Amino acid sequence: LKWTGTDGWHDGEVGPYAPLVLDPAAVGLHYGQSVFEGLKAYRTADGRTAVFRPHAHGDRFRRSAARLLMPELPTQTFVHAVEELVRADAAWVPAEEHRSLYLRPLLFASEAHLALRPAREFRFLLIAFVTERFFGAPRPITVWISEDYARATPGGTGAAKFGGNYAASYAAQARATAEGCDQVVWLDAQERRWVEELGGMNIFFVEGTGAQRRLVTPPLSGTILPGVTRDTILSAAPELGLPVEERPVSVEQWREGCRQGRITEVFACGTAAQVSSVGTVRTADGDFTVGDGSPGPVAGMISDLLAGIERGLAPDPAGWMHYV
Ligand code: PMP
Repeated sequence: LKWTGTDGWHDGEVGPYAPLVLDPAAVGLHYGQSVFEGLKAYRTADGRTAVFRPHAHGDRFRRSAARLLMPELPTQTFVHAVEELVRADAAWVPAEEHRSLYLRPLLFASEAHLALRPAREFRFLLIAFVTERFFGAPRPITVWISEDYARATPGGTGAAKFGGNYAASYAAQARATAEGCDQVVWLDAQERRWVEELGGMNIFFVEGTGAQRRLVTPPLSGTILPGVTRDTILSAAPELGLPVEERPVSVEQWREGCRQGRITEVFACGTAAQVSSVGTVRTADGDFTVGDGSPGPVAGMISDLLAGIERGLAPDPAGWMHYV
């Protein structure tokens, strides 16, 4: 689909995957005016195909575009494009649990000019890949707390799914990998104290045990990506007997909470990785472990619930599965 100031959205088609012909002066290549989404299509146990919460992803895509001064693709058009591609690729949607068709919508500035002003011509693309579980077998992930690098500042682009956020995060992720960790944990850029999210996932803390358990997740401060999975868990957890609270958590509270046994589990969530328990935390002041470092029961319960919905086996009262 193309967008120009004069014609609006036009020329939508399902076309060959490649090549994509671009002008070498395309603004998106030089100044990064580019936003994307990531969502999944599943094959249910009864053989139907459904996309998980495409309207929520479409709404976030519009908000990301607005922040980058790009034209907002109407959510209905976004969902329609997703439906068309999934129908065209229906044979590729895997039937096995934990496998899915990952859909990657992309909107970028295609206009050729090198002046520092927003473009007036854009392209919207949607591509798809068959994916496995992100971290392989379910095992706790290890995380590295980034105290030098910052991902997002107040007033910045942290709440948008903006390509530049990810490019700016490469160095920190490389450092996390060099430290032997799976993911970087981002802190707030001002005080370098409050936990925000992981490289590609939001974070939840489980406080207490048994019937006293509750979920705590950092509030959407404007510097965190508003994850669709985060939102799904906030909606679904109370029905699992898990009250939820959006409240800031500092690294110190995390460390002390684990030491005192108040924080019993930590997990991260996102479309690609689904739900992953956090085992070991690496900081400049040394490592600490959440619980005994093994996957937690709450993460397991939530992961099973989401997998059940995605397989069409668990009730879906909110209609998160959009059947195609
Ligand atoms: N935070 C960041 C930085 C991400 O890239 C993602 C993945 N989109 C998430 C959180 C989780 O978002 P979602 O649940 O919508 O995939």
